[in-house]
Amino acid sequence: MSATPGSYILLLRLGDDAEAEVGSLGRLRFSSGWYAYTGSARNGLEARVGRHFSKAKAMRWHIDRLSALSAESLALAFLGESPTECSLAARLIDAGAEPAHKGFGSSDCRCGTHLFRLDGGALRKALGLPCDGVMRPPSCGGGGAARPSIAAAGKAEKGRPRNGEIG
Ligand SMILES: [Zn+2]
Repeated sequence: MSATPGSYILLLRLGDDAEAEVGSLGRLRFSSGWYAYTGSARNGLEARVGRHFSKAKAMRWHIDRLSALSAESLALAFLGESPTECSLAARLIDAGAEPAHKGFGSSDCRCGTHLFRLDGGALRKALGLPCDGVMRPPSCGGGGAARPSIAAAGKAEKGRPRNGEIG
């Protein structure tokens, strides 16, 4: 239970325009607004997403530069082996998301990028993607150790059977 494998869409809002040095990609500009990043965590979704929510961390991945600057964040959780982070990236493109920076988070695959910029319409569509739960940062600070839990998605849709089986 403590190490649920899965993939996720991390949604981040930048309050202000920003620039950041992003590893091999160099210095990149990010205009304010919403971004979506897709990733996967075979060794534990809660821990990985919790790391994205934490501001105090060693800069390891491209996304760390951006998540450290974000004013707001949440994540859509997808449990199990599929969809993969790459198919989630494709779903975001279908939802109208705009590729943000080439090569961002996608150095190990054939996607153009795993980072997208979302306008209002694309954000609404992304939030409407069927997922297994929504993860939010712990509401009051207090270190970066707290792990967010995966809140069950679709609680409001009473009694609707879920697609697919989990674990
Ligand atoms: Zn990919």
